[in-house]
This record gives sequence, C-alpha cells and structure tokens, in this order.
Amino acid sequence: MAAAAPSVSRRLLARLRDLMAGGGSAQERLDKVVSLIAADMVAEVCSCYVMRAGEVLELFATEGLKKAAVHKTRLRVGEGLVGDVAAHARPLALADAQSHPLFAYRPETGEEIYHSLMGVPIIRGARVIGVLVVQNRSMRHYTDEEIETLETIAMVLAELVASGQLVRREELVAVDGNALLPLRIEGARLNRGVGIGVAVLHEPRPAIRKLVAEDPEVELGRLREALAAIKTALDELFSRPELRDGEHRDVLETYRMFTEDKGWRARIGEVIRSGLTAEAAVQKVHDDMRARMSTVTDPYLRERLHDFDDIANRLLQYLSGGERPVSKRDLPPDFILIARAMGPMELFDYDPAKLRGLVLEEGSPTSHVAIVARALDIPVVGRCKEVLDKVECLDMVIVDGDGSQVFIRPPEDIRDLFGEALRQRRRRAERYALLRDLPAVTRDGVGVSLMMNAGLLLDLQHLHDSGADGIGLYRTELPFMARSSLPDVEAQTVLYRKILDQADGRPVVFRTLDVGGDKVLPYWNPYEEDNPALGWRSIRITLDRPAVLRHQLRALLRAAAGRELSVMFPMIAEVAEYRQARFILDIEIEHLRQAGHRLPERVRVGAMLEVPALAFQLDALLPLIDFISVGSNDLAQFLFAADRGNPRISERYDPLAPAMLTFIRRLARRCDAAGVSLSVCGEMAGRPLDAMALIALGVRTLSVTAPAVGPVKTMIRSLDLPPVAAYLRARIQSPDHSLRDELRSFAIDHGVVI
Ligand code: PEP
Ligand code: MG
Repeated sequence: MAAAAPSVSRRLLARLRDLMAGGGSAQERLDKVVSLIAADMVAEVCSCYVMRAGEVLELFATEGLKKAAVHKTRLRVGEGLVGDVAAHARPLALADAQSHPLFAYRPETGEEIYHSLMGVPIIRGARVIGVLVVQNRSMRHYTDEEIETLETIAMVLAELVASGQLVRREELVAVDGNALLPLRIEGARLNRGVGIGVAVLHEPRPAIRKLVAEDPEVELGRLREALAAIKTALDELFSRPELRDGEHRDVLETYRMFTEDKGWRARIGEVIRSGLTAEAAVQKVHDDMRARMSTVTDPYLRERLHDFDDIANRLLQYLSGGERPVSKRDLPPDFILIARAMGPMELFDYDPAKLRGLVLEEGSPTSHVAIVARALDIPVVGRCKEVLDKVECLDMVIVDGDGSQVFIRPPEDIRDLFGEALRQRRRRAERYALLRDLPAVTRDGVGVSLMMNAGLLLDLQHLHDSGADGIGLYRTELPFMARSSLPDVEAQTVLYRKILDQADGRPVVFRTLDVGGDKVLPYWNPYEEDNPALGWRSIRITLDRPAVLRHQLRALLRAAAGRELSVMFPMIAEVAEYRQARFILDIEIEHLRQAGHRLPERVRVGAMLEVPALAFQLDALLPLIDFISVGSNDLAQFLFAADRGNPRISERYDPLAPAMLTFIRRLARRCDAAGVSLSVCGEMAGRPLDAMALIALGVRTLSVTAPAVGPVKTMIRSLDLPPVAAYLRARIQSPDHSLRDELRSFAIDHGVVI
C-alpha cells in the first residue's frame, strides 16, 4: 500500500469539481474536463473512454486527438493499450507506446504523432467503467506521482461517468438481455438447507456526493470521528448475547484489528491532505487496494480483502450519511441476501429472523461469512457468477444449498416444489422433536448409540434439541481455519472446556486437527500438490509438526480435567502412525502429571479408519485402542480411488456397494471379537437407508449431522433387525454395482421408515 504521496493539486481538483457541477450537457462538461486535464498535466492529448455494453470502450471525449473519432473509435476490453488498462484494472505508463506489442493503431484518431502514453482505469465499485488517457509527442517518462495524480482525477471523473448522464446506467453494468426470465444458476454449496424469499441486494457502498474538500483538517477530524463510531458499533455488537461465544468471535476479532491498521489509516490521511474529502479518500485507497489485489489468488489474502471491503463500506456509510452504521430496517419478512462478497460483520446488519438465505458471487466454504452463516443456520450458495447483474431487488429467489443452486424468478412449478419441500421439512422437524427423548432402539430391542457430528460451539445447541447421545465427531479444525494465526494452548483449552461444559456430561469425541487437502489453514502456506487428497494432510501434518499436535492434546487434556476425554486421530494409514500419535499423547499426560495438573478421569483413545491399509493391521491395532471410527467419506474415496471433491466422480461409486459393505462387516466382526467399539461418522451414517445397512452389518454407534438424528432415529425405531441382517448376509457377495435399490425395496416391504 505504500506509495508516493499524492501530488494532485487542490486547485485542479477544485476546478474539476466546479466544471463537473457546472452547466451544459454531460458531454459538454466532459469535453471541458479533458481539456482542463490536458492543460494541467502538460499533455498534448487527454482522452476519456467509457465502457459500453458488450465490454467495449468507446472514445467519449478528447483534447488533442481528431474530434471526428469521438463516439467512433471503439476498443474491446483487452484490445490495445486502453483495453489492457481496462482488462487488468491497472495503470500503464509508456515512454514509447507505439513500439509496445499491444499498441492498436486507429488511423481515425491521428495519434501516430504521440509517442508516450499514460492510462488509468476509471473505477466504480469494483468495476472498470472507463479509461482516462494522456499522451505526449515526446518520449515522456511519466512518474509514479503523475500516475497517482491521474488516478485521483479518474476517481473524481468516475462520478460523471457513472451518473447515467453519458451512458444509460444499465449499460454500465452490462445487464444480461434475459434479465427478466427465470434463471437457474449453479454455484458452490457453502451451507446446506433451502431458503425462499425475495431478493435484497447488498449494496453497502453509498454514492459519494462531495469529493473535493474545502479544508483537509476538517476532513481528518471527520475520519477520526467515523473510525471511533465504527469502533463503538463493533463494541456494541460484541456484547450481543448471540455473539458472546464461539469461533466466529475470532473472526470478528481479526476484523476489529483491521480497523486499527496503521498503514491503511495513514494512507487515507495522505489522500485527504491532497484535497479529497474523507469519504472520497476512503474510497480511493480502497479502490487502489482492490485493483492491486485483484489478481491475488491466495485465499487468505482474498478473504482479508473482503474484511477491508466491509470496513471501507461501513466508513463510507457513516461519512456520507452522517449516521451511525445501524441495522438495516424495513426488510421484507422473508428475504434472500445477494452480495458479491461479504465480510463476516455485514451479515449482522440484517435481521437474522427474516434472513432465509445468502447468495454470493464469490466465497468459499472457508470464507468467514460462510462460517458465520453456518453458525446461524442460513443456507448459502457461493460462486454464483454475475448473479448481481441478473437479479433485481424483490425478485423471488430460492436458495438450494443442498443442490448448490439458486433459482431467480422461479416459475410456479419450481416454487411449488420447493415450497412443499420446505413445508414438509418443517412438519418432519416437528415430528422428530417429539422423538427427542426416546431411545434409538430397534423393534427387537437392539440399542444404537446415536451421536452427532459438530465443529462449532454453536452446534452444541443442537445436541440438546436433537436428542443425540453425545458428539461422536468433533471436527476441531474449524476454529483453526477461522483464525488468522494458530490458536495457542490457552485459547484452545478455553474452547474445549466450553464444549465439554455445554455437552453437560454427554460424551464428546474430539478429532485432532484434520487439515490439508481442501481444508487450508490460512496462515500455513498452501503447499502445491497434484493430489491433495492423497497428500500432506491430516495426521501426516501433525506428526511432521508435533508441536501443533502436542499443544492441541495438552489443551484437550487440561480442558477435560476430572472428566472423561475421548480423542481420535484421523487418517491413520498404519499402526506405526497411531503409535507415534499415542506416544505424543502419553508424553503430554506425563508432563501434566509431573507439573501437578489435574488429569482427565479417563482418556479413551481411538483411530479413524479412513485408509483401507489400516484394516490389514487389525491384529496389531486392536489391542492398542479403545475405539475405531470409520470416516466413510474418506474411506469410500480411497477404497474406490474416487476423489470425493470431484463432482464428476464423487457419486460414481456407492457406499452401499458390496465391496464397501463387506469391508465394514469384516471390520465390525473383528472389533466385536476384540471388544473394541466401532462407530461410523461419515455422511452415509446420516442417511436412513445406509444407516439401516450399517446396523445390519453390526455397527452399533453412528455419528450423524444434527438434522439427520431425527430421521435416523425414526428408521431405527421402525426396524426389525434379524430379517435385514439375514437379507444382507445373503446378498453381500452380489456382483451388482450397488445394493441400494434392493435394500430400499426391502425396507419399504418391511415397514422400515427410510
Ligand atoms: C470422513 O472422512 O468420513 C470424515 C468423517 O471426515 P471428514 O469428512 O471431516 O474428512
Ligand atoms: Mg475424513
């Protein structure tokens, strides 16, 4: 962000302001503006290109080029030097422009006599809406300061270009010709669930009315006041009861740190001193940063950019409205929020009681807003390309998080379909609530321990309303992913203690850090791998970085002082790995003992069976462990050599295939004989039909997502086990692709509710 102090003269800015606000048509004013810029910058040419529909840049005004070229010369984005400035949203300064390979000669302009060229993008929001160019006959070397000056001018000019007086505003956003037809957009699932409501566009950036300041000192004072107001608003937000606890708090803390970033504040101050108002300075610094970072692919940095967007928007709101940043009012009772991207705080500006879903143009499962939305149980679909250009305020929208799709202005049949699905969901949820306190026992009296998967502190509330027997898989990586640095032992201890407190005596199985593959920790340099699923992930990372594992285990042991601790290691491929991890745990136990700490009453240790190789070492493994938990998602991936993250292949093989069922049956028998408890905690355990098969194979503990507890319990309570077990025994050697269809028919015929 460090750059030379902006050198644009306050006099020039004042004259520009007067010209733009003066009389005459927009075209006449633009003509005067380019003459003024050319004179002030001692350039023979100054031209303004405006973006038109279809990504074409049209010459709108010029001082120095032939006037006949105005409204005739057109360049596509990416074409010529002007097109290059627009394509990359970055300035270009060349002493010898004509010898540049991208130079596109336009004879009608008469520009062949000008050698040097400097062009800057005219940006509005995150979009390039034009290009401002100066040219000189001599081979002039434009300085960084001159580029900076032209950028500031372009920003002031953006007001005129975006005002809708030169080009219709709709054209500036290149509205899709089919804007009013129903649309289905595929995206990425960031949170499950279905939501129906009307679109509310998240447009936090207010129009800036005043760009050029009278007195920089007054503006600096306004900036200070705005920053203080934001801080107060954040403090208030932090004291809300629903935000008091949980990992999202880390996200919010990181965000607060950004508002205190000294470099960023200093840069805004510099721009104010050059003559812009506080709000214009905030916008300029922010646009510069966005343009510079637009090519960054690092997910962590991109995420930070969203946080900065959020802060800049808040400041702009305050500065241009003179109000405190307050919650949005008068929202429709059921609405779907549509945004390009969002910082985690912005979601709290909207009433969660009315918010039914969130659609983002960007976003990834690990984006902060997705983590917060998950905690609030709001369905989210991300990576919906250009959705903001395709939806209008109050359009009907359906967010289908389960199907990773969004319907805009859905036709009646789709509306009815999803409306009915939603009503059924609610009715089912009411029925499941009635089962909450009843045991998961089959009709013939076999008890199944029905546990729940969790990963956020907020999930714990579902432990009580779902009636699960405990947490069978606590994915500890989420808090690690939400923070900007590795949480220390203290922070982890506090979190794990809260989890155990909230579980209130019900068992919790903590899985040690399972990152890598697609779960990237923002502060660890992602390591480029051809096959990340088979790569440096999970226990492999923590065994190679034992300090991380030691700290986590220490925190778990401390948090469970005087209580039972269950801990399992993920992705164990061989007994030697398990022993190594177990050795580290024993060292930690011993250290705590020697230091006089209170230890857990009992420590249960298990391994996740996700890599098939481990099943060939059961003789060596079983005597060393208390339990095995099958991670069926990864197990199926490795058993069938089918990438679970690749949509083309992830559904190709079925967990109800004879090979997978045979594998689990053998495992169940061996565990039973050795007195080692066996659970299944992957997605299959949460599907009633699959769960029926697992129980028939001998599995007695299932750990499922919270919404699956009711359906699986309903299935168990309707199940008469011996006939299914016999049926499966007879069919398990089938040469078929899957037993799913016949098991479904069997269930229906035998009254099993699936
Ligand atoms: C699994 O692989 O089945 C599992 C439970 O772990 P995760 O989905 O977190 O990899
Ligand atoms: Mg796994």
